[in-house]
Amino acid sequence: MNDLLSLSHVTKIYRQGGLLSRRHITAVSDVSLTLGEEPEILSIVGESGSGKSTIAAMILGQTAPTEGRLDFRGSPVAVHGRAERRAFMRQVQPVLQNPFEAFNPLKRVDRYLFETARSFAPDGKRPDRAAVERMADEALSHIGLTLAEVKGRFPHELSGGQLQRTAIARALIPQPRLLVADEPVSMVDASLRMAIVNLFGQLKRELGLSIIYITHDLATAYYISDRIIIMKKGEIVEQGKARAVLDNPQHPYSQALKEAVLSTTPAL
Ligand code: ADP
Ligand code: MG
Repeated sequence: MNDLLSLSHVTKIYRQGGLLSRRHITAVSDVSLTLGEEPEILSIVGESGSGKSTIAAMILGQTAPTEGRLDFRGSPVAVHGRAERRAFMRQVQPVLQNPFEAFNPLKRVDRYLFETARSFAPDGKRPDRAAVERMADEALSHIGLTLAEVKGRFPHELSGGQLQRTAIARALIPQPRLLVADEPVSMVDASLRMAIVNLFGQLKRELGLSIIYITHDLATAYYISDRIIIMKKGEIVEQGKARAVLDNPQHPYSQALKEAVLSTTPAL
């Protein structure tokens, strides 16, 4: 059986300063990882600039690797082609960092849900209004909201937590198999973060979703993930079961991250 997702010796080099520039930056260097078919939450943890968002962009097919390959269920992650991208995005959906950027401030949030429902109707036919509303309501029910609560609202009329939940609901509408959540709670009030992070565990259990949770926060990663990958300067420096990585970190950088967690999170 194919893996759900596999990255094999993936490297991404950006050229900086235009076509004639010789300055290059290796954002991601020789990264290999797999997700099996079993639903799983994999955290990618690292400081700013360690290459996390570049990995997310490649997994989402938003940018191609410079070297190496990415496969989803045995086929290359679709980077080009409208139909190929659409078929791929049915299965792999992003959750963005800042819900206030994900939603246009002048557009009611239910519009986004309805547009996504129209583009990803299960049978590919154009669904009627009632079907679209059903799809939106169903997705919202998984994150503890109802369509009535968000209908007609502009982004600023929802709390940051509600808006990020709505963004997650939007990502659920195509009934994806994998969510790629890039720092999904970093813009959310600290008091609401755990509730949203817990939601990922619930989605894994209830919908059989796999989730790649990207964060600079080892504490939330430890709390929700099955497996953790720690990155530094574009490379994986440590990976393993969440408990093993936190109980017995091998790399000095992981040890430093753990010390930082212990000094701020007495409960662990
Ligand atoms: P993280 O998400 O962990 O903060 P990123 O993947 O955003 O890290 O960035 C990794 C490195 O790649 C950084 O040095 C960043 O400046 C660089 N980088 C990211 N995207 C681009 C781009 N589009 N063009 C040039 N350099 C980039
Ligand atoms: Mg980033």
